[in-house]
Amino acid sequence: MADEKSPRPAVEETIIIGSGPAGWTAGLYTARANLNPLLITGNDYGGQVSITYEVENYPGFPEALSGPELVEKMKEQAEKFGLTTEYDHVSEIVTDQHPFVVRTVNGKEYKAKSLILCTGARPRYLQVPGEKELTGKGVSYCATCDGFFFRGKDLVVVGGGDSAVEEALFLTKFATKVRIIHRRDELRASKILRDRAFANEKIEFVWNSVVTSINGNGSVSGVSIENTLTGEASELKTDGVFVYVGHLPNNDLYHGKLHLDEDGHLITDKKMRTNVAGIFAAGEIQDKVFKQVATSVGQGCSAAMQTEKFLAEFEAEGYHGAGVDAREFPEIPTFVPQRAAERELVLA
Ligand code: NAP
Repeated sequence: MADEKSPRPAVEETIIIGSGPAGWTAGLYTARANLNPLLITGNDYGGQVSITYEVENYPGFPEALSGPELVEKMKEQAEKFGLTTEYDHVSEIVTDQHPFVVRTVNGKEYKAKSLILCTGARPRYLQVPGEKELTGKGVSYCATCDGFFFRGKDLVVVGGGDSAVEEALFLTKFATKVRIIHRRDELRASKILRDRAFANEKIEFVWNSVVTSINGNGSVSGVSIENTLTGEASELKTDGVFVYVGHLPNNDLYHGKLHLDEDGHLITDKKMRTNVAGIFAAGEIQDKVFKQVATSVGQGCSAAMQTEKFLAEFEAEGYHGAGVDAREFPEIPTFVPQRAAERELVLA
């Protein structure tokens, strides 16, 4: 928490936006570089890993640990070296003037010589009838948060990637039966998870099927599905639906300001630079390929090291002479996702 007794400088050296693994790592490295960094957590404290039951592929923790535990360890380590954490949500960044301006929903306004954007991604919705109405009433995007409430129940998980399979395995701790509904007949998930799911007696698979509606009056009673090969429609009775059909980048702050790719990820070069000098990005907001805790940590580290270099050049030569903004990015039209409709879905 920011210490009221030590006021922040009029112009921050660097502000990190986002509190997932990329953000904390950027905080750790910029703190150890004596940049007195400020990290603004965002509403989704800890990012996606904080809603992960168990992380067993982050090196250094052979016994595995929970997502929230890992986030707390990362935070503690970064703060030990001088990172200041603000529990606030950024509502606007101004990128066409330097120092940059960061405004928050709590009415704060900061100026910063550099920014490290680590705003991550959020779950994609199915966008079928009933999903919005029944969210929180049997439809969930977080097994870690809600699994406990489904003790002795019959559940479905939608999706075929690592998240779907991992969380389906977790849900077997509570549910009597978990059916994974996948649109193909082959899982995208990694082999170790596939093997575990196939070996789990409580898990069944509904192949080549998509959910066309989630049904129930006040609580989930079933899902309507359609076979993708035959077009045949049917209904499955269930008590709960966990949706894991991928993620969308949290890019609201960047439209018309920074270059985004066709999927809405920030475009960065290998040095984690965006198209504006002094603004860097790390983690799933710019990574559409790897999306691992370990890769986000690496990207956060790279972004922090480049920020340090940028600031040294800036101190020596000023903003326009910083010499890092001559990169040529392809002119890609700003991508506008169907964000408003999706947001309505969650905040039912
Ligand atoms: P993902 O890998 O993109 O998988 C999304 C799944 O949802 C796919 O199986 C996809 O089907 C399906 N899907 C997408 N849109 C759909 C729709 N409209 N209707 C029905 N199904 C739909 O997403 P993820 O599982 O969330 O994983 C994201 C990243 O995080 C991946 O890189 C993953 O490896 C990583 N991750 C890793 C771990 C781990 O290492 N333990 C755990 C969780 C996540 P198709 O297969 O047909 O495309």
